Amino acid sequence: MKPSDGDRKWGFSTRCLHSGSLTDSRKTGLVTPLYPATAFAYLDVDDYAYPRNFNVPNQKVLVEKICALEGAEEGLVFSSGMGAIFTVLLGLLSPGDHAIFQNDLYGGTHYAITSELERMGIDYTFVDKVDEDSLENARHEKTRLVYIETPSNPLLTIIDMQLVAEWASSHGIISCIDNTFASPVVQNPIEFGIDVVMHSATKYLGGHSDLSAGAVVSSARIMEKVLHTAVNTGAVLNAQVCHLLERSIKTLTVRVRQQNRNAMEIAEFLNEHPEVERVFYPGLTTHPGHELARKQMKDYGAMLSFEVKGDPDEFVSRLRLIAPAMSLGGVESTVTSPRLTSHAKPGPEARQKAGIRDNLLRLSVGIEEADDLKEDLDQALGL
Ligand SMILES: *Cc1c(COP(=O)(O)O)cnc(C)c1O
Repeated sequence: MKPSDGDRKWGFSTRCLHSGSLTDSRKTGLVTPLYPATAFAYLDVDDYAYPRNFNVPNQKVLVEKICALEGAEEGLVFSSGMGAIFTVLLGLLSPGDHAIFQNDLYGGTHYAITSELERMGIDYTFVDKVDEDSLENARHEKTRLVYIETPSNPLLTIIDMQLVAEWASSHGIISCIDNTFASPVVQNPIEFGIDVVMHSATKYLGGHSDLSAGAVVSSARIMEKVLHTAVNTGAVLNAQVCHLLERSIKTLTVRVRQQNRNAMEIAEFLNEHPEVERVFYPGLTTHPGHELARKQMKDYGAMLSFEVKGDPDEFVSRLRLIAPAMSLGGVESTVTSPRLTSHAKPGPEARQKAGIRDNLLRLSVGIEEADDLKEDLDQALGL
């Protein structure tokens, strides 16, 4: 199943394409065959295959590919990002343990923490700013895990991954990151010492707004614990979707590079636009996290947000090409209003505290021609 151990030397795009693919020895086809079976023979095998044992061929091939992209030893794929994230938390934390979370996490993760962990006797602290002081203030002897997201949603705050990883390892704490917003093309947290990397593969890895999946990669030691819980939570990805996701990842680099290029161009365009108040994009030298982004990201990603001077809802309704749609990371550009979507539930006060103004819009930049996107934004901003 492993093409060769040499694939670690391959460049990123080559790994997207060739790592973790199973050759079709019978018919010599170039792509991994689809194995839809849920029943496999158990006689004369050490470890019989079963989807919920996370060991059917299409799962294993896909995991190998994602591990090659993140430089990880082992991994698992799930039926959603939340399936992956919650299984990690459940697998690595026990009653009485304490965990530290960045406050501006993906809304679904934030909700899972506040609505489930306490009930299970797991203690936690949210920190507004992730730096050594805030981590040290939040830490106590039962702290087992620290969890971050960078760039963050929706203000694209950049967190120092190396600082978090080194602080955590010096205290025997497991460091985790949700790498969905960046994608493995843009950032590989394991290079900076982070222990566990999670993805909502529904976003960039899938990339076509047509599948739901999640992934976790880490060391073999940590993944053994996660697997133990994963078998019980059962959020498995079936072979058909594994196959679709494997196919999607082959074009990950070309998609995301074009998305990043477009995002940079659009960020600069919006930054100069008289009808735009502020732009949040780590690629802009004016972004407070720009220097850190240069250090730890290979590119600046394709997510950005901006504040419009006029009515944000009217702006959205005037867009013709960019779709007002939830989710992100697809080949088509989409826009959301955090006030009405991800940050509707916390309410106006919490939004204000987090610096999320009512005129903020979040853009997930697609692979269209940048000129077409700029033209659409320009006509919707209206002058
Ligand atoms: C979408 C998303 C998730 C959750 O993933 P699902 O596939 O919807 O379960 C987690 N983290 C981030 C950053 C996301 O954007």
